[in-house]
Amino acid sequence: MNRRQTIPKELRYTRNQFDKDFPNDDVCLEQIKQQRWPSGMIYCATCERERKHYRVTGRMAYACDRCGNHIYPLVGTIFQKSTTPLRIWFQAMYLMGSTRCGISAKQIQRETGVTYKTAWRMFNQIRKLLAEDLRLEGYSVEMDETQIGGRRRKRTMYDPQNKTWVAGIVERKGERRVYATVIDENTKKALQDIAHEKILPKSVVFTDDAAQYHGLDVDYHHHRINHSQGVYVMGNVHTNTIEGFWSLVKRGLGGVYHSVSKKYLQNYLNEYSFRYNHRACGNLIFPLLVERASQPELLKPSEPAKRNLPA
Ligand SMILES: [Zn+2]
Repeated sequence: MNRRQTIPKELRYTRNQFDKDFPNDDVCLEQIKQQRWPSGMIYCATCERERKHYRVTGRMAYACDRCGNHIYPLVGTIFQKSTTPLRIWFQAMYLMGSTRCGISAKQIQRETGVTYKTAWRMFNQIRKLLAEDLRLEGYSVEMDETQIGGRRRKRTMYDPQNKTWVAGIVERKGERRVYATVIDENTKKALQDIAHEKILPKSVVFTDDAAQYHGLDVDYHHHRINHSQGVYVMGNVHTNTIEGFWSLVKRGLGGVYHSVSKKYLQNYLNEYSFRYNHRACGNLIFPLLVERASQPELLKPSEPAKRNLPA
């Protein structure tokens, strides 16, 4: 895959433009307010009706122009408890949205002067927002499982015991979206539960010939490619699309994040899937990230990926 592919002009959001649009914390806060209340009217609990609100100087707050009651747009968002300036958060989201292959915490550390720990935490928080509850459809999907990660024991050795199983499904047509999740065990039950939850009945499903996929033909048109016999493509029977996604993730994690423990792998999968699923947006992914970050409900426990998050 070409990592340096040029983004069409209309889908480009340059760093210069970003710096012009978001010069300081106040503008960033205003952006979040606009995302949450696009009409500019905000419900005032004291007046018990929608009112115009004005910015309170020196506070991350707006006040009702009738009774003065304060509202805080950052409450419930990833920014609420952070002491890191809002603009640095926006910078982190800009960087995350502008790359195909992932940005390291080191990079945001260098650019903004926050500590590595702070930079890492920010990225982790943003990734949490990127879980998407997809139901895959379309003419056909590919499903596959693989092992990812593992903490580095010595300079070049990875501990295979620490690798984590992940399962993924990708649509071959239509929006060609991907869904990827950490699984506790590489078992028939784990994989088929995910298939049934994510793939519409009667879809055409392509997998390899692993035994875990036996029986999918009850609910799906199931085609299997005989990887154990060294066959990788037979007409349209292959799993190259999902394998391409795995190599994107593995290359990215290997090159950028070095090692990822099981605990955080789902968040990284969210990031890669989100970027993959919104690749038609060029680097206009940044506004999507701001939109998500402005929605407190995305952080509530009902978030869809939770089922597969390791404890
Ligand atoms: Zn009021």
